[in-house]
Amino acid sequence: MRYLITGGAGFIGSHLSEHLLKLGNEVFIIDDLSTGSIENIEHLREDKRFHVYIDSITNVRLLAEVVDRCDTVMHLAAAVGVQLVIDNPIKTIHTNVAGTELVLRQANKKKKKVMIASTSEVYGKSSKVPFGEEDDLVLGPPTKGRWRYACSKALDEFLALAYWYEKKLPVVIFRLFNTVGPRQTGRYGMVLPRLIKQAVSGSPLTVYGDGKQTRCFTYVDEVCNILAKLAENEKAIGEIYNIGSQDEISIDELAQKVKAVAASNSAIQYIPFEQVYGKDFEDFPRRVPDTRKIYELLGIRPQMTIDEILQRMIEFTARE
Ligand code: UDP
Repeated sequence: MRYLITGGAGFIGSHLSEHLLKLGNEVFIIDDLSTGSIENIEHLREDKRFHVYIDSITNVRLLAEVVDRCDTVMHLAAAVGVQLVIDNPIKTIHTNVAGTELVLRQANKKKKKVMIASTSEVYGKSSKVPFGEEDDLVLGPPTKGRWRYACSKALDEFLALAYWYEKKLPVVIFRLFNTVGPRQTGRYGMVLPRLIKQAVSGSPLTVYGDGKQTRCFTYVDEVCNILAKLAENEKAIGEIYNIGSQDEISIDELAQKVKAVAASNSAIQYIPFEQVYGKDFEDFPRRVPDTRKIYELLGIRPQMTIDEILQRMIEFTARE
């Protein structure tokens, strides 16, 4: 099979490229390196079945040509990371909405399957934990910056399904829950690479708020394995799937564990959200996926515990 991965030089995109190549596929990527990097894909560049286009997906001519050459599009290109979303409002909305529309429009011309990356963030403030794919999306007002990410991704989902309902374009939507692993950068806000770097370098671990908020961290290899299987499954077309671990942990506990696994003496520093992201910032108390749907389809769901994840990531960081 031939895959186009938009955002293929990003953290998840680079792991997905590697995984799909290992399975014997040909992989094309388009990435403008806005948050991705050449280093992420350096180790893949000798592979003749790996084709790299450093450009924006808004270069329609290029997009059309590469969509033509592939069988399935994995659309991962997006503005990601809470810090980036807060700092760059227009870019966030434009990249996430206009970029997705272009991809869907081009794919529709030749009816190429499109897998759309979405996010657990679309569940917003829902208190119905765990989150099921048919649950309501409980979003906040446009005056609070964080919501522009969830809203833009929710719109991507509506648009993708509109192409399926109206044009019979085969689309699959997957909502990722805090995917982590080697090569993820903390530059745009993501908590785990930040805490690990802080622990390893001996600086204070920054826990935002009281640290009681919880997340479920999912190892990137498990996500890629599921995505490859999902892409091959015809029953997934027109559907939305949660992809995430159900191993819930508070950020406070996460910081303690990072310290323990890294054998670090760093202090833990609690910082009010307002100080980091400005006033009117809202965080989510809990975020846990219901993974029954993906399990019923594929017979797999992410399994790796946070302890195993930390072992791997800290070893990787120490080797860097
Ligand atoms: N967080 C933290 N310290 C950091 C970065 C993030 O305590 O240095 C918190 C953040 O406020 C959130 C959680 O960790 O409650 C996960 O943050 P991340 O930005 O990784 O993902 P998301 O909020 O999108 O789940």
